[in-house]
Amino acid sequence: MYILGIETSCDETGVAIYHSKLGLIADVLYSQVSMHSDYGGVVPELASRDHIRKLSPLIKQCLHDSQLTSANIDGIAYTAGPGLMGALLVGATTARSLAWTWRVPAVAVHHMEGHLLAPMLENNPPQFPFVALLISGGHTMLVKVDAIGRYTLLGESLDDAAGEAFDKTAKMLELGYPGGPKLAKLAEQGQERFHFPRPMTDRPGLDFSFSGLKTFTMNTLRGTEQTLQDKADIAYAFQKATAETLTIKCKRALRQTGLKSLVVAGGVSANKAIRAHLQEMTAQEGAQLHFPRLEFCTDNGAMIAYAGCQRLLAGQHEDLQIFARPRWPIDELLTVA
Ligand code: ATP
Ligand code: MG
Ligand code: FE
Repeated sequence: MYILGIETSCDETGVAIYHSKLGLIADVLYSQVSMHSDYGGVVPELASRDHIRKLSPLIKQCLHDSQLTSANIDGIAYTAGPGLMGALLVGATTARSLAWTWRVPAVAVHHMEGHLLAPMLENNPPQFPFVALLISGGHTMLVKVDAIGRYTLLGESLDDAAGEAFDKTAKMLELGYPGGPKLAKLAEQGQERFHFPRPMTDRPGLDFSFSGLKTFTMNTLRGTEQTLQDKADIAYAFQKATAETLTIKCKRALRQTGLKSLVVAGGVSANKAIRAHLQEMTAQEGAQLHFPRLEFCTDNGAMIAYAGCQRLLAGQHEDLQIFARPRWPIDELLTVA
């Protein structure tokens, strides 16, 4: 079964084709990052317009790359939320229209379920059940995953998401947009000099809070001459505090659930320091650790095609309405299997 996957929830237009037995066939991506960087953040109306401009050509390119035609496609998966309403509607209406024209089913996919299942595209994929840490631009969640669609939220951020904290801190350090990867790069030149707090680790529970680290960054920065080395040392301290905080909570979640498998996904899971901290902890705990490949940490069509394929294989059917939901809690998803 060949599934076309469409991702348009934010500032990346992603299209992919996944085959239920052969695996990933083709994957194309267009990032709007350079357009939004002039504004220091994503401008929703510009994002929707650019998705309109890019989506059809990318679908054509994806079919061409895979040497398939529309007649080969057995189903279409599209991101229906959470995300920007206008951006989501571009993917949803395109997917629904193509499904109607091609006489195949379309399935609405939850963007965070896409991130969560991205490590399934790798060799040696994780086995259910596992604990998932989802760290992205808009979310920070610990989820117990028993099967596709069987998700129990263990904890989440009470304020900023991990990626948002990276981006806002990078902005204060004047690193440009999007700041997460730039901050990580600068931190490589940083040294042990400042100590940042590890928010909410001194009390029980699995929730997170990252907004305090912003204030701490600002105050620390003001106490220096703001040279490049000062900024690198601050980036280093911020990244270390974030990595340790995430690692402490993951260890707690593994012990609390008794599970020995941890999946980490979402844009921030590309961060090398965070990966290293989690690697060390899971080795000590005798637990398995799974990540997506680097390019599938951030938004992409492959993870949506994969998630949609699993749902279609399980017989999920939907009516013809165009479904888009900007806010959509992950524990409200339909259970599959
Ligand atoms: P969501 O998935 O919650 O809807 P999103 O789709 O915008 O949000 P992603 O595309 O998954 O988020 O990830 C983008 C985020 O990942 C940005 O905040 C970016 O700064 C962050 N990020 C990407 N690479 C790195 C890195 N190496 N280190 C830290 N943060 C990173
Ligand atoms: Mg993005
Ligand atoms: Fe995302």
